[in-house]
Amino acid sequence: MAQYIASIDQGTTSTRCMIFDKSGSVVSVDQLEHEQIFPRAGWVEHDANEIWNNTRDVIRGALAKANLDASNIDAVGITNQRETALVWDKTTGEPVYNAIVWQDTRTQKICDELAALGGGADRYKAKVGLPLATYFSGPKVRWVLDNVDGARERAEAGDLVFGNLDTWVLWNLTGGAANGGVHVTDVTNASRTMLMDLDSLGWDEEIAGEMQIPMSMLPQIESSSQVYGECHEEVLRGVPVAGILGDQQAATFGQVCFEVGTAKNTYGTGNFMLLNTGEEKVPSENGLLTTVCYKIGDQQPIYALEGSIAVTGSLVQWMRDNLGIVSSAPEIEDLAKTVDDNGGAYFVPAFSGLFAPHWRSDARGALVGLTRFVNKGHIARAVLEATAFQTREVLDAMNADSGVPLKELKVDGGMVVNETLMQFQADILDVDVVRPKVAETTALGAAYAAGLAVGYWSDQEEMRQNWGEDKRWTPNMDNDAREKTYRNWKKAVTKTLDWVDEDVD
Ligand code: ADP
Repeated sequence: MAQYIASIDQGTTSTRCMIFDKSGSVVSVDQLEHEQIFPRAGWVEHDANEIWNNTRDVIRGALAKANLDASNIDAVGITNQRETALVWDKTTGEPVYNAIVWQDTRTQKICDELAALGGGADRYKAKVGLPLATYFSGPKVRWVLDNVDGARERAEAGDLVFGNLDTWVLWNLTGGAANGGVHVTDVTNASRTMLMDLDSLGWDEEIAGEMQIPMSMLPQIESSSQVYGECHEEVLRGVPVAGILGDQQAATFGQVCFEVGTAKNTYGTGNFMLLNTGEEKVPSENGLLTTVCYKIGDQQPIYALEGSIAVTGSLVQWMRDNLGIVSSAPEIEDLAKTVDDNGGAYFVPAFSGLFAPHWRSDARGALVGLTRFVNKGHIARAVLEATAFQTREVLDAMNADSGVPLKELKVDGGMVVNETLMQFQADILDVDVVRPKVAETTALGAAYAAGLAVGYWSDQEEMRQNWGEDKRWTPNMDNDAREKTYRNWKKAVTKTLDWVDEDVD
């Protein structure tokens, strides 16, 4: 009987379980969406119990679809939406508040107060590789402790624990409150909290102190590929959980970006470009993040430079759900194809402020360049172009930081089925854009990390052999046109800045 690896992908909009075989092909998938909770402008939450129930259901679903049971699974890997923060009671297993999602901007005041202690937004950057921004987990934990009745006292008494969603899934999978769930995270997730020292790969007590987060709440930091514990959950009882990677690091691993200088860009809710910088931790001077790419067992950690963009695919969702201009995401391409260009319209989706390379929390979205000429086709095009332009800004920053221009870009994620976008992306970057055969690189990366730990795959070379090219888009735009439209984009970005006033929550 053939053996397989299961991968749990706990994403921003849905939770998936995928079963992979040795060739890295998908054997079965099950997926459930969860509710996006928007209690106020700028706030985004998830119900962690709903997510755990969905996780259980999709594991069961994926196994059933492939007619498999726990005995066919050699290991389980976990990948997850990063930075989304949850605080729960370790005795009851009950969250004290919804998970606060990475896109949520409620911690702006906390970030400003920390910056005012000295050093501004870069106060912790040398240690953690990140600027102070609402994006990261630490300030979110602080918000929960400050705002949920009794939470601080319970945390100080040692009753509450924190985790990103990897830790929540692992803890529940390995037994939860009743059966000794494991309270662990991996280095990639820890590197997104603002609390981990990038050199020692341990929690930084000084930063935790300034953020008023008790050390007892923090999970143990382990590598990305090792056995953390066994599943207690019935459907996978006894199977080792052996890999954890934050979703973007998992996609980098799944795209086999193992060499220094290789990069991938994932087009999902947001966009995330990661460049492998090897054992060297490269500080960014151009608005990128320095982060852990992966760590295999007791090997040296591998670092990455990252360009994070908050809103790309979620702008398409917004067109669908909030405006009703399209009834499904793929329709945006049909609409965009009704026109030849953007008709002068530029859409800067600064819904959560602007992330890389700007890091401007005072920005808000703007649709500019409008005239009576502009129709919904042009706006659909502007929506797609927004993803490509934001990616150009990140690629320029990456090239400047690394000093070595990228020659091609490996892409993946939900939006890469959009051929109009991919061609425009190649045109605007002026480099080839390459889509792999297995587009599910995030889930695959976590499967690889788990499979490697238990010897299912013997080495990374085997994974490299599994990678295959599906389609390549080659630039086809003249230089003048490219630089003119990009110049307009940059002008459009300036129109979104300085929007949020200090006295607005
Ligand atoms: P995540 O893992 O972040 O939840 P996915 O990788 O599943 O996201 O990608 C989903 C995103 O891709 C959604 O935001 C959706 O709007 C967008 N999307 C899906 N299909 C298309 C398409 N054909 N054209 C443009 N955007 C698309």
